[in-house]
Amino acid sequence: MRNPEQAKGERVLAGSDAKSGERASEASSPKMESAAKTSSDAAAADPKSPKNVSAPIEVQPSEVALSETRFARLRKKKDMPEGLWLKCESCGQMIYRKELEDKGRVCPSCEFHFTLPGRERISMVLDPGSWREEFANLRTIDRLNFHDQIPYLEKVRKAEVRTGQAEALLCGEGAIDGRKLILVVLDFSFLGGSMGEVVGEKIALATELAAARRLPLLMFTSSGGARMHEGVLSLMQMAKTCSALAEFRDKGGYSICVMSHPTTGGVTASFASVCDLTLAEPGALIGFAGPRVIATTLKQELPAGFQRAEFLLSKGQIDQIVRRADLRPTLARLLDYGSGPRVKAPRRVRS
Ligand SMILES: [Zn+2]
Repeated sequence: MRNPEQAKGERVLAGSDAKSGERASEASSPKMESAAKTSSDAAAADPKSPKNVSAPIEVQPSEVALSETRFARLRKKKDMPEGLWLKCESCGQMIYRKELEDKGRVCPSCEFHFTLPGRERISMVLDPGSWREEFANLRTIDRLNFHDQIPYLEKVRKAEVRTGQAEALLCGEGAIDGRKLILVVLDFSFLGGSMGEVVGEKIALATELAAARRLPLLMFTSSGGARMHEGVLSLMQMAKTCSALAEFRDKGGYSICVMSHPTTGGVTASFASVCDLTLAEPGALIGFAGPRVIATTLKQELPAGFQRAEFLLSKGQIDQIVRRADLRPTLARLLDYGSGPRVKAPRRVRS
């Protein structure tokens, strides 16, 4: 029998993270935006929708004209093939999806870097044909028997089917301009790129693999934070991944993390921030709690550009902002810096 207080605590935790995850995905996922639009369109077109149940008492001619224009607009929208266009979440410009994909999912008008699916990131950054995936069969189990609207495992299995991968983290060996490395990509499209036991374990395994093969470790993150469906087990991954990276560094390992939009919560607060080099993509949202939560808690207005990559660079939190188009040459150069003879790093002493 579970302690009800404990269960209540879990619900609170899960609720808070789910909300931040939703917010992050709302902010970044063009799919969700189009889905929301479609549902509002459907509501407007559905005669049974409460929106359309209005008593036509005294309708002015101008109102008729207005509603006709509105219907014409909706009809036009309906005729447009779904998902052909999407709105940039940064500048609000309508973008032709094909053009966005051709530009590596970078907005043609404001250069906003959209969240990339994991596999797309891998093919964009690595030499063609160099990717060899590792630990692809590690699958999530539900130790806490967690239910919210649907059982946690059911949610995971749906994400597996949708994305065609077993977890949010992809790990393997590859090469950039012929330089071999171990690559880790946290994919936002799998449950908001959240970090549960499997993600933590795969990061630890990646550090061990990189140490064994004497290769640098490169990570890409986009995440809503720790996976609260796994309760404290997901929070433990923060300590686990940090200690795995510390051990890797003690063995002379070299690691680079590229934070992409959005990198938040327990991922920012653990492995993403403790690599030798921390890079970010332009305009990426990087933080622990969301800006709205902080503003409400502090009861203060936040500075302009708060929690964006440029703001963090000015505060010394990250080392460099790299445009997506420049990633491969920049990474190749940075990998060369770390490819000298590996010397055991001196043990860090706590002062
Ligand atoms: Zn834009």
